[in-house]
Amino acid sequence: MGMGGRGQGRARSESGLNRSQGGAAAPLTPKPGEASLAHLGVLFLDELPEFTPQVLDSLRQPLETGEVVIARANHRVTYPARMQLIAAMNPCRCGGGPGHACKRGPRCADDYQARISGPLLDRIDLQIEVPAVSAADLVLPAPAEGSAEAAARVAAARQIQRNRYGTYGQGAPRTNAEASGQILEAVAMPDEAGVELMRSAATATSLSARGFHRTLKVARTLADLDGAERVGRAHIAEALSYRREMLKQRHAA
Ligand SMILES: [Zn+2]
Repeated sequence: MGMGGRGQGRARSESGLNRSQGGAAAPLTPKPGEASLAHLGVLFLDELPEFTPQVLDSLRQPLETGEVVIARANHRVTYPARMQLIAAMNPCRCGGGPGHACKRGPRCADDYQARISGPLLDRIDLQIEVPAVSAADLVLPAPAEGSAEAAARVAAARQIQRNRYGTYGQGAPRTNAEASGQILEAVAMPDEAGVELMRSAATATSLSARGFHRTLKVARTLADLDGAERVGRAHIAEALSYRREMLKQRHAA
C-alpha cells in the first residue's frame, strides 16, 4: 500500500493533493484530488514532512469536515473526502529508527518534525512511536492476538456504535469518529476520575477544544473495544497518551 520512497512522495504531492488550493498551476476544471479519491478509504502518506506546507495545510479541511471545497474564479465545487489518514515518518530526514543517533545532531530531527504544523498534528488522533525492528525480534513467536482476532474486536466495537447512534435519526453519526461535540458530550463523558484526569491534562498541556473532543472520541472507542458502558479514567489516559502534547512532554522529561 505504501507510496515508496520519498522522491515519489514529493512527486505525488505536486500532482494531486493540493489541486484544491488554486494557484498558477491549478487546472481550470476542478478534479477530485487524492483526499477525495480516498473517500471512505485510507489515504496513506509516507514520509509526511516531505510534502509541501501547502499540501499538508490542505489536509486540514477534509480531516475536519470530511469534504474538500475547490474554489475557482466563478464557481465552487465540493467533493466528499471522508478518509482515514495514515501517515508515516522517520524521526529525521536521514532516516534511522528511534534511538538512531543522527550525525547532524538533534537539530536535524527538530527541523524535520517542525515541518508538521501544530494544527495538522492536532487533527491526528493516534500518534505512535514505533521502535525499529531488529533481527532478534523476527525470531520471536507470533503475537497471541492475530489480525483475524483484532478484526473481530473492531467489528464488535463498530456494531456497538451502530446500535448507539441508530436512534439518532437522519444525519446521525455511524461511528464515534463522526459524532459531533454535542453528541460526544452526551455519550462519551467519562466518570469522575476520568473528568479529573481530563481537567489536569488540559491544564498541563495545550489541549485545544478540538483536542478535547478528539480525545473523547478515541476514549469512547477504547471503551467500546473493552465492551465498557461508561468511559473510564483508563480510557482517557490511553487516549491522551496518543496525543502530541503528551509525546512532547515525554520527550522533555
Ligand atoms: Zn538527521
